[in-house]
Amino acid sequence: MIPFNIPPFVGKELEYIEKAIAYRKISGDGEFTAKCSAWFDEKIGGEKTLLTTSCTHALDMAAILCDIEQGDEVIMPSYTFVSTANAFVLRGAKIILVDIRPDTMNMDENLIEAAITNKTKAVVPVHYAGVSCEMDTINDIAKKHNLFVIEDAAQALTSKYKGKNCGVLGDFGCFSFHETKNISCGEGGALVMTGKEHVERAEIIREKGTNRSKFFRGEIDKYSWVDFGSSYLPSELNAAYLLAQLELADSIMKDRMASWNYYNEALTFLKKKGVLELPHIPSHLEHNAHMFYIKAENLAVRTKLISHLKEKGVYSVFHYIPLHTAVAGEKYSVFHGEDIYTTAESERLLRLPLYYGLTNTDREHIVNSLCEFYTG
Ligand SMILES: *Cc1c(COP(=O)(O)O)cnc(C)c1O
Repeated sequence: MIPFNIPPFVGKELEYIEKAIAYRKISGDGEFTAKCSAWFDEKIGGEKTLLTTSCTHALDMAAILCDIEQGDEVIMPSYTFVSTANAFVLRGAKIILVDIRPDTMNMDENLIEAAITNKTKAVVPVHYAGVSCEMDTINDIAKKHNLFVIEDAAQALTSKYKGKNCGVLGDFGCFSFHETKNISCGEGGALVMTGKEHVERAEIIREKGTNRSKFFRGEIDKYSWVDFGSSYLPSELNAAYLLAQLELADSIMKDRMASWNYYNEALTFLKKKGVLELPHIPSHLEHNAHMFYIKAENLAVRTKLISHLKEKGVYSVFHYIPLHTAVAGEKYSVFHGEDIYTTAESERLLRLPLYYGLTNTDREHIVNSLCEFYTG
């Protein structure tokens, strides 16, 4: 069987983990964590990057830093992973969901303004498949209505919008290093802040509500409980694994891009025949080959296609169940406007295997199996 995903294991992961052990420093915020943050400073930018235990936790921290309170409203797409919403639900917010654009599967920026009320505090663009949302429009609306912009950049490490990195286009950027993402350490994430004003509190929230980070830097002589918080810092073992991957980010992305381009070229004739759709990348965006999906004609065809591929030894997967149709979604969210594309498009979408090291033989087999389904 060709799996859907194999987490990358590319170079010095074990060497660095052994080093962390040898240094007798395996809890958080040691040398490896610092080096991962430095990588972000250099390659992504922003004012400050804090490694976290997951993107979910980076989103949680962003929600706390925005002072989201009971009754506040937060706007996001319904077509996203549950963590995008949970972070704000945990603070007592009501989630306002809007429809997506069918071309990129991203939140439709033209639907945001009508969803704003005097309770709206933040908007959360999700860069689906590593393809950026329309950030100029989103930032203009946010500025006009005094809203925070929190980018869910879980899938968008090194993706670009008009030449600028995703994750540093709003107030906060949240990244994921879950094993299904381009760069991973099992479970991990990062919170990038673009302004100075949140940095001090972010360090406190991440360290159980204490000013321990200041203490470690020698800025104070003892640390104590100064705010509420939790434990959002990853172990050095995770950071060591992550650093080895970040160092080879370029080659990991390049390898994925080769597979992405292969799929795109090999399947274009089926698109021309009108039997399926392929991802659309607007020309002012650069994606990071996080995902290659096709869109089948409808749910019934997709279901048949999944079993056909399985018979051929190919695992393909789909996601997400739109948040507003889920059990928790009914409780915590409302869909603003009409669901024209979210449900319909999500039911057609199918992700093909895409991972670092996907071989040419396997790619060919996957494409041939797909073609066989359509052309017999
Ligand atoms: C993966 C993902 C997350 C969650 O990331 P974790 O690191 O697993 O918490 C959040 N949002 C989106 C869009 C994701 O793809």
